[in-house]
Amino acid sequence: MKPPPFDYHAPRSVGEALEILAEAGDEGKVLAGGQSLIPMLNMRLTHPRHIVDVNGLTELATVEAGPDGVLVGALARHAQVERSEPVAAAQPLLRRALGLVAHPVIRNRGTVVGSLVHADPAAELPAVLALLGGSVRLARPGSTRDVAADAFFTGPLESALRPGELAVSALFPALGPRSGTAFHEVARRHGDYAISGAAALVVLDEDLRVVTARVACVSAGPVPAVVDVTGVCGGDRWESADWRGAAAAVQDGTEPEGDIHASADYRRHLLGVLAERALTEAAQEAGGR
Ligand SMILES: Cc1cc2nc3c(=O)[nH]c(=O)nc-3n(C[C@H](O)[C@H](O)[C@H](O)COP(=O)(O)OP(=O)(O)OC[C@H]3O[C@@H](n4cnc5c(N)ncnc54)[C@H](O)[C@@H]3O)c2cc1C
Repeated sequence: MKPPPFDYHAPRSVGEALEILAEAGDEGKVLAGGQSLIPMLNMRLTHPRHIVDVNGLTELATVEAGPDGVLVGALARHAQVERSEPVAAAQPLLRRALGLVAHPVIRNRGTVVGSLVHADPAAELPAVLALLGGSVRLARPGSTRDVAADAFFTGPLESALRPGELAVSALFPALGPRSGTAFHEVARRHGDYAISGAAALVVLDEDLRVVTARVACVSAGPVPAVVDVTGVCGGDRWESADWRGAAAAVQDGTEPEGDIHASADYRRHLLGVLAERALTEAAQEAGGR
């Protein structure tokens, strides 16, 4: 399969890229790692007249980890973020999730920001951004805007990115003390997109009682659904909290669909198992075990 014809642009600065994208409008597409865009072009699922290759914009290949979280530039590859020790210290969920994304060779090219903009509900990083309440920075000539995760993912393969905009970075917030996270998923083969997955966050107070518990679900609807289960286990000590009941609330709060890979019922069953596992593990981490 070959892509439809397009004009190829290789800007040398972010400013130049923004000008080209603004002019191209809804006929332009950014090429980052190409791990999703190239297959879609080859299968003729998208027909942009202009491809704007941002791989020369090395100023966007940044990863900054600090007390507020991890700021990932648009050209930072999955592997770069996954291998960074400061990132693992500032936001350990990123490394956990990235280890589940595709295969190493794909992670060497694919970008974190590209994965967010691609907005596949079966992908790990949109769920991580949604769980942590992160945001994506979008730019056009002369202005930028930050879009929170809950407004960024608008449908399957659809995001709040407007024609002519470039996503320049994503912020994954850090967590406070007595917080824990975990990510569990099931895929048919290692490296495949997950049939079902659950990322969990648990925060405890000084008495090690649950103050926040929520789960972001993979492959459980058109966008990465976040279910807050604090109502089920809030106020309980983490060791005795009803994590199974919380997982049942996650099942009740989502509507997985069936397809050629799995029935809706099987996905719902998996989600319950994975959510309980992820919540229990996140609680253990928060509780210091
Ligand atoms: C065999 C295979 C298995 C995979 N398995 C998984 C998996 O298990 N989990 C998973 O999450 N992903 C998986 N992927 C996808 C992979 O993670 C991609 O890298 C990712 O989805 C997109 O990142 P990219 O940098 O390659 O983006 P590209 O393919 O370059 O772009 C993807 C889309 O995002 C847009 N875009 C990219 N960057 C920007 C930007 N800065 N501003 C505006 N628009 C932008 C593009 O225009 C395009 O529409 C898999 C891919 C393959 C080929």
